[in-house]
Amino acid sequence: MLSADQKICLGEVLKKGVTTMPDFNWFKSALIMILTMRADDAKKWDPLELVGLAKSFHVDALGFSAGGIMAFYPTQIDDHPRSPWLSGKDLVGETVEALHRGGLRAIGRIDPSLASNDLFLKHPDWFTVDANNCPITVHDSFVTCPNGNYYYQFIPDVIKEILDNYEFDGLWANAARFAAWHSKQCFCSVCQEKFEKASGHSIPIESWGDPVWLEYNEWRYQCIGDWMRYIHDQVQRVRSDCAWLPLCQVVESWDDSRPGGWDPDYVLPHADAMVLEAQRRYPNIWWPGLEARYLRGLNPEKAANVTVSYFFPWWRFYSVPDPENRLWIAQIVANGARPWLHITGYYSELFDRRGFDSLRKMLKKIKENPDAYTGLQSLAEVAIVYSRFSQDNYGGEFPEKNYINHFRGFYNAMMVERIPFDVISDKFLSMESLRRYRVLILPNMACMAKKTAETIAEYVKSGGLLITTYKTGLFDEMGKERNDFLLAPVISASYSGSTLKNIRAAYGYIRNHDHPICRSFENTELIPLVGDLCLVSADACRNAHPLTLITSIEGKGGSGISVPEFNKIERNHITDLPLIIENKFGRGHSIFFPFQPDKAAYEYGLPDMFRLLGNAVRMAPGWKDRVEVQGAGLLDISVTGDENRMVIHILNFSSPGSFNSGQRRPMQQIVPIHDLKMTVRLPRDRTCNGVKLVFNKARVTPVIKDGKLPITIPELNELESVVLSLK
Ligand SMILES: [Zn+2]
Repeated sequence: MLSADQKICLGEVLKKGVTTMPDFNWFKSALIMILTMRADDAKKWDPLELVGLAKSFHVDALGFSAGGIMAFYPTQIDDHPRSPWLSGKDLVGETVEALHRGGLRAIGRIDPSLASNDLFLKHPDWFTVDANNCPITVHDSFVTCPNGNYYYQFIPDVIKEILDNYEFDGLWANAARFAAWHSKQCFCSVCQEKFEKASGHSIPIESWGDPVWLEYNEWRYQCIGDWMRYIHDQVQRVRSDCAWLPLCQVVESWDDSRPGGWDPDYVLPHADAMVLEAQRRYPNIWWPGLEARYLRGLNPEKAANVTVSYFFPWWRFYSVPDPENRLWIAQIVANGARPWLHITGYYSELFDRRGFDSLRKMLKKIKENPDAYTGLQSLAEVAIVYSRFSQDNYGGEFPEKNYINHFRGFYNAMMVERIPFDVISDKFLSMESLRRYRVLILPNMACMAKKTAETIAEYVKSGGLLITTYKTGLFDEMGKERNDFLLAPVISASYSGSTLKNIRAAYGYIRNHDHPICRSFENTELIPLVGDLCLVSADACRNAHPLTLITSIEGKGGSGISVPEFNKIERNHITDLPLIIENKFGRGHSIFFPFQPDKAAYEYGLPDMFRLLGNAVRMAPGWKDRVEVQGAGLLDISVTGDENRMVIHILNFSSPGSFNSGQRRPMQQIVPIHDLKMTVRLPRDRTCNGVKLVFNKARVTPVIKDGKLPITIPELNELESVVLSLK
């Protein structure tokens, strides 16, 4: 068996990356539209009309299908199917030329996930098979395997042909992954041999308690990273000024990206600009903002792009309600990334065009205000760490319940509490990357490498505030349980070895209302508690704690309910078991919640849980809110800037329709907020000599008092970006 360190050899993955590359900075400011073409679109495809379409949306580049599943040019490669309606035309060549003549850039879309029956008959070993050795068909094509020679020979030949012939500015890869189009895991002979060589084992079937399965799961991510590197090298060799843009996803799409082997951390070194997809519409409405934040956290210097699908993935000709698409775009630009507007079926006779004009206006606004949306860095002082290792190797079969809901809880808490924040990967924590943050949040980051813990300890020692919940650091990266929290010395709590599970109808008892973490709990002695609680060693229980457990008040143990006549809290219900453990460590300190306030906040929407998490963040020494916003509404605030500007982006998530139908309701209406009052704390020793409200089209003369600048936003719809000129 390989050791955990050998298996998760991220350093090696990164070293394989091409380090010298041309400048693809144009992606940082470009607006891009992607058109996915259907086979029969070749009948109507008009290159000049497409240039006009792209310009009507104010984009700088148009992407369109070139080859892979189907070629829209006269390919000379055997078994690379041409669109039956191509009729000798070279639509790719004509469109690239028309775009360049029109002053736009051209991006080619390839898709390596499916190939024809003819090719399957010639090379069955290039294709995915299931556990019964049966190939998998989608429409009338066959799903290909990312380890096979379709990916390593055929597609590179297609790419070479395309880039030899056409001056593309970028090449975008769709669905380069395992388990494409909802097929299952691949058991082909190539995968079997490759995995056996890497691990000494046969390919396992899914079982999250099996270490071989966990190893296989990690191997899938690495295989996709390997292919990204292989193609990146090839693209560089053939046309070095063409950007390689492989697609992947993160967090909310775990059920898709995990079987696919998509981990942006492994793709990052092999992409000239990062593109995350945010197509599906059942994840949380904040997913695009999360992805934008994650990309900026991965590498603020690399262009970050997130897709905006005009359509529902299952109704590809039908527009997502316009307010939701606008908020989708707004979140992306507010967090320093660029939107890729993705349209499919544009040439279909039956098509919903109702959202076009609104999105045109939105993109025009972004284009006309580069001072609000380009060349800026996040100024957030809080970072939430996302850990794919915890999601998979601790989350196992139920990653949402076990891990992601903790992460979502903190994400949502920062929105509710109106605290600007970043999202960063656990794989890249370093003192250099952490130095700028006052607060580092690890929401149940169960799986933790020793090196990561050392970095975090150093961060706290040097003055940072660390917030952890539940089982953070109790497992290694591969999910093997430790005897104690890896951060035990930092958080001053040791694991007793047992956990109270599935507590219901319990409470936290507020022992000290004067404690800053209990701020705003004045008129209550208790707040609700649900979930699991790690029991910590007696040492940690001896200190005075502001919040301790009131055990479940139930008629029958485990029922979660009591009979009103007998419903009472007796003295023995109030325990000394701490729910909050604070510690000073070096020049910094830590706050450890041994229970699941983040998960409870997300799953139950409990306002006091959000407040508790917000109060914890505000305990950072010298904390002052950079932006204070008054009034109602669910908002998400980002602050970006450079030497001359500070930009406050306020996203409005206030929308009617909170029914539980099993499918998130699309945002059919954004409730506008009028006369929203906010106060901005200016950076020390700086003043402001101009304020611009991008969406309200207003300029305000700043009146500053004690370094604070009050601003009123006349009307907030999906977004307002307040640009402060600093001097
Ligand atoms: Zn395979």
